Amino acid sequence: MKAAIVLNANSISLQQQAHEIQSMLDTIETGFCSVEMWLFYQYPKPKVFPKIGSPLSGIKLIRLENVHSPESYLQLLERLMGQYPMDMLVFASDGLGQELASRLGYRLKGSSCLQVEECSLKSGSLEIIKPLYGNNLTALFVLDSFPCCLSVAKQVFCPVKMIPCKSVSIEACELDQIQPAWIKESRTICDEPGSDLVDADLVLVVGQGVNNKETMDVLQGIANTIGAELGASRPVVMNAWIDMNRLIGASGLIISPKICIVAGVSGTGVFSTGIKKSAFIVAINIDKKAPIFQMADVGIVGDLQEFLLELEKVIKADNEKKGLHDRAGSGIES
Ligand SMILES: Cc1cc2nc3c(=O)[nH]c(=O)nc-3n(C[C@H](O)[C@H](O)[C@H](O)COP(=O)(O)OP(=O)(O)OC[C@H]3O[C@@H](n4cnc5c(N)ncnc54)[C@H](O)[C@@H]3O)c2cc1C
Repeated sequence: MKAAIVLNANSISLQQQAHEIQSMLDTIETGFCSVEMWLFYQYPKPKVFPKIGSPLSGIKLIRLENVHSPESYLQLLERLMGQYPMDMLVFASDGLGQELASRLGYRLKGSSCLQVEECSLKSGSLEIIKPLYGNNLTALFVLDSFPCCLSVAKQVFCPVKMIPCKSVSIEACELDQIQPAWIKESRTICDEPGSDLVDADLVLVVGQGVNNKETMDVLQGIANTIGAELGASRPVVMNAWIDMNRLIGASGLIISPKICIVAGVSGTGVFSTGIKKSAFIVAINIDKKAPIFQMADVGIVGDLQEFLLELEKVIKADNEKKGLHDRAGSGIES
């Protein structure tokens, strides 16, 4: 059995993607005789590569001239699979990885599975373990159509190192890119710059209970005073009360702060995936039966704004006592 992991050297999350793929590969006990890295790049040609714990049998560098859409990757991947057939292709957990895994599995008449946590080879089939129904169920799938195209599950932020990989054969694949006739025009909309959310010690996560943009702005001020990074649940980002790149949960970021204050969030499984690795969780909700209280270390039944304004006052007074009132990030001591 042969496998290739597919990564994009131009992605800002390359090292985190490699960590997530490695976590999944670590669950495979036996069965794969070779694992290659297929690395897309635009410019310059990479000289260092994400450190993968599994021994690599080779690295293929694939130059992408024009990236119009996932179609640009799909065309090249189809041709590479013609030249170098693999039994399994492993993609990153991000939107692109998920789209490539599902569309390529279909095009190659194989199979695909997304958000894979564990994988093993059993009597010629691939057994997959992945969360289902908003993390309320762990399911086992058996894939027996090859190639299997998988995207991996998100993991806590833990980027791997970049290394030269001197002992591994590195091959440059120069494939011509053909513009599909159906793409008439393309535009690139850049993401907002990344935030410090994933490695913050103190995070305030706000949910639909915030109710409007005005209250959201008040909470941003409180977060600044107490030295917290601000995250949000899906309804909050969908209402554009905060940037999309601050979404917490299975579709967004997985955080692991020392203290996570969760205000006005009901606590569905898909959201909870994003905060469950926090060391200490404080939940504030007006509904004493809200599911979020089940995972909280401290639960406060009450209005979020009332509580957070009080907390801000206490921390301000404390900082003033210590003479820290003008210093950013001088908030809660964990
Ligand atoms: C495939 C899929 C993926 C998803 N991925 C994500 C994801 O990654 N992240 C995510 O967040 N969601 C995700 N969702 C959506 C998720 O299912 C929930 O709809 C969402 O998390 C609910 O957000 P919420 O808790 O803020 O809102 P609600 O469920 O509406 O909860 C609001 C809470 O605020 C409380 N409240 C109201 N007023 C106050 C007040 N004044 N003070 C204190 N508490 C108050 C209420 O009691 C309630 O518990 C996904 C859904 C699907 C189908």
